[in-house]
Amino acid sequence: MAEMQFQKNDLVTIEITDMDEKGQGIGKAGGFTLFVKDTVPGDKVKVKIMKAKKNYGFAKLTEILSPSPDRTKPECPYARACGGCQLQEMSYEAELRFKENKVKNNLVRLGGFSEELVESVKEPVAGMNDSPYRYRNKAQYPVGTNKEGNPVVGFYAGHTHDIIANTDCLLGREVNRKILEIVLEFIKTEKIRPYNETTNVGEFRHILIREGFKSGEIMVCFVINGKSFKNEEKLCEKLVKEIPRIKSICLNVNEEKTNVIMGNTTRVLWGKESITDEMGDVKFDISARSFYQVNPVQAEKLYTKALEYAALSGKESVWDLYCGIGTISLFLAKNAGKVYGVEIIPEAISDAKKNAAANGITNAEFFVGKAEEVLPEFYSKNNPENTMFHPDVIVVDPPRKGCDEKCLETMLLMEPERIVYVSCDSATLARDLKILCENKYELKAWQCYDQFSRTVHVETVILLTHTKS
Ligand code: SAH
Repeated sequence: MAEMQFQKNDLVTIEITDMDEKGQGIGKAGGFTLFVKDTVPGDKVKVKIMKAKKNYGFAKLTEILSPSPDRTKPECPYARACGGCQLQEMSYEAELRFKENKVKNNLVRLGGFSEELVESVKEPVAGMNDSPYRYRNKAQYPVGTNKEGNPVVGFYAGHTHDIIANTDCLLGREVNRKILEIVLEFIKTEKIRPYNETTNVGEFRHILIREGFKSGEIMVCFVINGKSFKNEEKLCEKLVKEIPRIKSICLNVNEEKTNVIMGNTTRVLWGKESITDEMGDVKFDISARSFYQVNPVQAEKLYTKALEYAALSGKESVWDLYCGIGTISLFLAKNAGKVYGVEIIPEAISDAKKNAAANGITNAEFFVGKAEEVLPEFYSKNNPENTMFHPDVIVVDPPRKGCDEKCLETMLLMEPERIVYVSCDSATLARDLKILCENKYELKAWQCYDQFSRTVHVETVILLTHTKS
């Protein structure tokens, strides 16, 4: 059969058979592959080609001829326009299946593990208990101006910085809506200008809201192009009166022309400078800029699994690499002999130390630096007497790009009995596991945790054990 040729604006009927990493449906017309946003595997659709390359192209959904059994009506009216969720048109069950498969495929294709092994050591994907919405404990809403020149709060449309006015994002808490409406009303009556990214003029840039799910405490932080704004106290009074759970209101100064949300200085306008929350039986102080897992319910489940994989009896020496504010380290510390945390951001390490002290944890030590530098440096001063050089367990929780090779090499030299790998990118996870398992380790168990429901992101926890044990 001759190759089919396609051009921009062609209308094609295809069946969606797969989904890519970004949540776009994939379908084939002859040998030509089309990527179509807003479709679900199993859909039969009519699409319009927007961009055609030699063997593949991108198309826009024009009509659903017959819907996939996995298709569902999105809960949010802005689901298609907004850049936040990619999987709202897929049933939650199908979403969980999709995520688990994605990890499995990466382990087989990129990790070099056999499908039988990957399948046999899998634990079933852990989804949200009730609803896959309202799970985020932190939300950052941009403030801007609509076409009529009125202030709006909402979310960025996909791939742009146009703001879709929406005070009720379904991934955020219900209380956020009331907070945003009060702030928006205040901005209007006080005639305060929203920030304009192009001209760098105007004051209100973002509204950040955080909530401690267990403590119930709320923090509101205004990101301002300036050091203050008119009648600050009035806004604080109103917020606190209407929402007594607010325990902290801050102002973050960001006068730079940048798309980085927060600036370097934060001032307390009302109440405390941080709110508290608990994970397991560890208490955390969370300030405006600190990193904290955004889905605390799922994070707690995941850490519990990481702890189970670490199989601690109370005597072990453990490294927690990429430790952030020490969440996993402190979770492990109560069951370990000694925990060593490593993290690149100095503020996070100072939070980790404070959190350890506040919880009376004395067997955790923290180091600032790159994992791939701190670990080899310790190892080069090898002292066989010191358990630090020969830990029982190493836990890693790297950012999307995964572990540096130097870090993996040193882990292989240290030869812990168990390695627990927490990952937010299954492609780099598989790449790193390949290195570890070509040498001394074997894949013993893995499980996906849905921490970012309705989006394509998936978290995985993996247990490797040393082949000698
Ligand atoms: N384990 C923590 C944080 C995980 S996020 C938690 O669960 O809360 C990944 C962390 O790795 C971030 O805090 C980031 O600042 C840190 N990081 C990024 N590159 C690093 C590197 N090369 N060495 C050490 N830490 C790094």
